[in-house]
Formats: sequence, C-alpha cells, structure tokens
Amino acid sequence: MLKNNFIVVKFNKKYFFIFLILIFLSTIFVFRDYIDAFKPKVFLYSTVVIDPGHGGIDPGTSYNKLLEKDINLDVSLRIKKVLENKITNVIMTREGDVSLENKSTLNSSRYKKDLHARKNIIDKNKADLFISIHTNSNPDYIADRGVMIFYYKNSSKSKYLAKKLAKSIDENVYKKFLKSNIKTRVLPQNFYVLRETTSPGVLIEIGFITNSYDRKLLKSKEYKKQIAMAIRNGILDYINELDDSKIQIVDSY
Ligand SMILES: [Zn+2]
Repeated sequence: MLKNNFIVVKFNKKYFFIFLILIFLSTIFVFRDYIDAFKPKVFLYSTVVIDPGHGGIDPGTSYNKLLEKDINLDVSLRIKKVLENKITNVIMTREGDVSLENKSTLNSSRYKKDLHARKNIIDKNKADLFISIHTNSNPDYIADRGVMIFYYKNSSKSKYLAKKLAKSIDENVYKKFLKSNIKTRVLPQNFYVLRETTSPGVLIEIGFITNSYDRKLLKSKEYKKQIAMAIRNGILDYINELDDSKIQIVDSY
C-alpha cells in the first residue's frame, strides 16, 4: 500500500509540474499585449511626408469605376497607420478626396498649383524624406505590370531610398507574398515633385491599372496591406542606416 501510495504521489507530481508550466505559458500568451505595453517604445525621430497623388476633381488614371486617386489614398493611409508606431512625425499632403490647388498662391494652371501645394507641404515641414504614391497606366501595352520607383537623378539620397524601397517590396511583396520573380523597376525621372523639392523623396507607382493581374492586386486589401508594410520597412531601413542619432526612446507610461 505504501509503495502504491508513493507511486501515485510521484505520478501526480509529474503531471502537476506539467500543468504549472502550461498555466505559466498560457498566462504569458494571454497577457502578451499587456506586457508589451510596458516596454518603452522606440521611435525614430524623423519627419516623413506621404503624398497620395491626385484627388478631388483630378481622378488620375482609371479603369471603369476604379480610380487612381482612391487607390493612392487607401495605400497612403495604410502606410501612415503602420509608420506612426515607429516615426515621430508622419504628415499627409491630403487625407481625404480633395485636390490641393487652393493651397497654392501660384498664378498658374490648376494642375501646377496642385503640385506646387504638395511641394510646399514637403518643404515647409523640412521632411527627412517623402513618398508620392501613384498608380500606373499603359493602355498601349497592357502586359506591362509591376511596381516602379522614380527618383530625381541629382539626388543620391533619393536614389538610395528608391533602392531600399525596391529591395523591401521585392522581398516582402513579390517573393514572400506573391511567390513571384518579378522585380521592382527603379528609374531616374524628371517629375515636378521630385525635381522641385529640397527633401529626398521618391514617386512610387504601385501597379498598372491597365494590366489585369495588377488590377486584381490594386483591388485587393491584402495586397495594399502588404505593399504598405513593405514601404514602411524600406523607409525604416533607410532612416536607420542613414543616421543612428535619430533613434529616440519614448516611454509609453
Ligand atoms: Zn498618378
């Protein structure tokens, strides 16, 4: 009897110990968000301007009811959302369906005034970098597809940013998410917003509205989420490598 009792106690102890471990692990799992909230948050002390192309009276390119201005804004707001946890200052040139010509004092066409207003927002905020988000179109060659990133040829920082973003999009969106060998194209370009601004920046065409494969992606929430995250990672990579002193720890309590 004694021997049997001993075996029973030993048997229970073993399972009791496993039970304790399981309780401990599940407690960590349940309270993981709470535990995270008590960690100091690390922000990069930096100003990033996100510029969703077109808006309001100017729809940009379109395919049936699919409008470039809406895609640009959707992706830009997603970038803002995921960037705000990491960057101290994230500014949008527009957060709604509006054009910006009334924010410019330039005596010129509506189109030029709109671009001038965007340049002013970037310059006045002394942005460490900016990204303009657009959607591409090639009705003469509908097979054309993929992300394109443009930078101004005289700005080495812009070129460097373009390459960081392309690397992140290729790895996170094309390779991991879409299992595709397609590569982001990085090219110099003489666009107003790239040429006239003092801050480094790029214009990203996030896909071709005229290509059926890309169009499906541009309508997909998951693609927009993935590309926003990839752009965010590219931006963080660029800032981290460029200047370590920008790191700032902000207590969350
Ligand atoms: Zn555009």
